[in-house]
Amino acid sequence: MNYISTRGGTEAVDFQTTVMTGLARDGGLFLPESIPDIHAELSAWATLDYGALAFEIMRRYADLPASDLRTLISDSCAAFRHPQVAPVVAVDGVHILELFHGPTLAFKDIALQFLGRVFEYYLARSGRRLNILAATSGDTGSAAIAGVCGRAGIRIFVLYPHGRISPMQELQMTTVPDDNVFCLAVRGSFDDCQSIVKTIFRDLEFRDRYELGAVNSINWARLLAQIVYYFYGVFQVMARCGARAVQVAVPTGNFGDIFAGYLALRMGLPISRLILATNENDSLAKFFTSGLYRRGKVQATLSPSMDIQVASNFERYLYYRVDRNPREICRLMETFAQSGELRLNGIGATGVDELIAAGSSATAEALAIIKEFYEQHGYLLDPHSAVGVSVGREFQKADEPTLALATAHPAKFAEAVRRATGRDLAHHPELDALVGKPQRRMILNADVEAVRAFLRERIP
Ligand SMILES: *Cc1c(COP(=O)(O)O)cnc(C)c1O
Repeated sequence: MNYISTRGGTEAVDFQTTVMTGLARDGGLFLPESIPDIHAELSAWATLDYGALAFEIMRRYADLPASDLRTLISDSCAAFRHPQVAPVVAVDGVHILELFHGPTLAFKDIALQFLGRVFEYYLARSGRRLNILAATSGDTGSAAIAGVCGRAGIRIFVLYPHGRISPMQELQMTTVPDDNVFCLAVRGSFDDCQSIVKTIFRDLEFRDRYELGAVNSINWARLLAQIVYYFYGVFQVMARCGARAVQVAVPTGNFGDIFAGYLALRMGLPISRLILATNENDSLAKFFTSGLYRRGKVQATLSPSMDIQVASNFERYLYYRVDRNPREICRLMETFAQSGELRLNGIGATGVDELIAAGSSATAEALAIIKEFYEQHGYLLDPHSAVGVSVGREFQKADEPTLALATAHPAKFAEAVRRATGRDLAHHPELDALVGKPQRRMILNADVEAVRAFLRERIP
């Protein structure tokens, strides 16, 4: 499979180039030249275990020798604490896909355990090095660090909004002792961090000189790894309920997770619709109800990994919505960069997209759901997953099950759980063990030049 850029300014490239460069050189995002249609495979795939299913899906997108791909997948799966990798549990009529059994207890491990291994695999073959530059709203940073830590030829620089991620999220990054790991606390929002990273990547000369690579959810390999759990989760719910289709509720920030679901749906997985759930940072939810995408001011909430107003993967979705017309994407993205808004034309009678319903759930509602699930069912949700469950409920159907993605372990967001239940319930021994360990981080202004200077100093 080859990959094209949403902005049409580059030649099609292979899987390796796509993964190793992250962002296309014309500033666009990579997408596969075509989306494989897997309708014919559905019944055979429904009973596969996680690793076998991952192999079947990924081999359609990744040009790797089969035995190498199998090893990359099985090593990645082995990093998870649960033998099924992503088990489904039923609570109060909702099926919850637990995506948080990886090393850093958030769903991003699923993508980054795979991506770290793919990087190492390609670097070993080319004899090259890679300096990863990433912006994180909290969970990507620690998952990326866990994914590449101890891997040969890789340095990682992680930017995060100073004081706006949870203490545990910060500890998970800053207590990693390896000297190829650099944590940069930026005085600004996540969008500021992301915009600094994007600006640096756009400077091609700098990017080449310092061998920069990306692990943000713009990296295609991450989306690819995430497609797998949609299949796995939906198959399990279909088998349990005898259902022919499933709705999937997705707590959304950068539109990476839900875009993987969108691809699964377009491949032929029977998802009747995706339910996009945001917190108070609801620019995406508003888009799917009005057709107008407008950059708002970022509000800090108890679900910080979703405190995003400019969703980096949204451009990929738009590409399909403008009939894969890169000129139209350039125009829309230019308009958005200048005015902070864009409008999709030609919205039909069924709304912006009949395949995507959307809503937002304010912090108070998410806390109420956490309390209710704990008190009535003894199940602890983290605040991000609670947003998904809460919005998922609004769109519940009597005749069709809902799968809600649980994106983090509640112990990562213990403060929210305390606020919701009044009790200190959310713990995990590995997180508790981080408290009091020495931390390493640098605090920088939200300034591209400061970050550039830091990279120059640290990369020989
Ligand atoms: C990153 C993250 C999200 C949002 O995922 P996107 O791919 O950015 O939409 C939701 N919940 C948690 C816990 C996360 O870490």
